Amino acid sequence: MSAETAEIKLLEIAKEIVVCPRCELARTRTKAVPGEGNSNAQIMLIGEGPGWHEDQQGRPFIGAAGKFLNELLAIAGLDRESVFITNVVKCRPPGNRDPMPDEIAACAPYYLDRQIDVIDPAVIVTLGRFSMARWFPGEKISKIHGQPKRDGKRLIVPMYHPAAALHQSALRGAIEDDFAKLPKILADAERERLKSEDAAPKLPAADQMKLF
Ligand code: URA
Repeated sequence: MSAETAEIKLLEIAKEIVVCPRCELARTRTKAVPGEGNSNAQIMLIGEGPGWHEDQQGRPFIGAAGKFLNELLAIAGLDRESVFITNVVKCRPPGNRDPMPDEIAACAPYYLDRQIDVIDPAVIVTLGRFSMARWFPGEKISKIHGQPKRDGKRLIVPMYHPAAALHQSALRGAIEDDFAKLPKILADAERERLKSEDAAPKLPAADQMKLF
């Protein structure tokens, strides 16, 4: 998909998100937070849900955890314009409580999943328990952080949540080390993608037409 088409599709999804009535969080939000960044990003980062600052401004990871995330991206030689940053739920759970299972079920299949399809990143970084649970059910972050797992054509990398890592020096060192590994993980993911594209059987143009 071209960058323009992806951008248009992401905007359409964002328009739905900002007026979404699908769960209780719609009643208490100030602004929904669709996510932002590069519509053709090779790396997508998925947090839990908006906090107070994000709810005020409608943008992801702009509070203290967001500032730390910017530093972590810099460790990996990245910035916010080169990646796409979003959350599992798009509206703030009141008092920063955990998102409820019914809220995740009402949100992720309609919005996050479509964003992933459009962006089609080679690498997804999960930040915190709720995005990790989707690809690593029952696993412990202390055991698996920083270790990529293949999911079809992408690598999924579980990482500590920046808000948790910010104030605990052991976790801070761990998440910094994990981000430092991202360039190599991305290079591996891209190499695998190229290999599988090369391996895909290529039909002559006339045969391709017959498929439609
Ligand atoms: N924490 C999250 O998980 N997401 C945000 O957008 C901000 C803080």
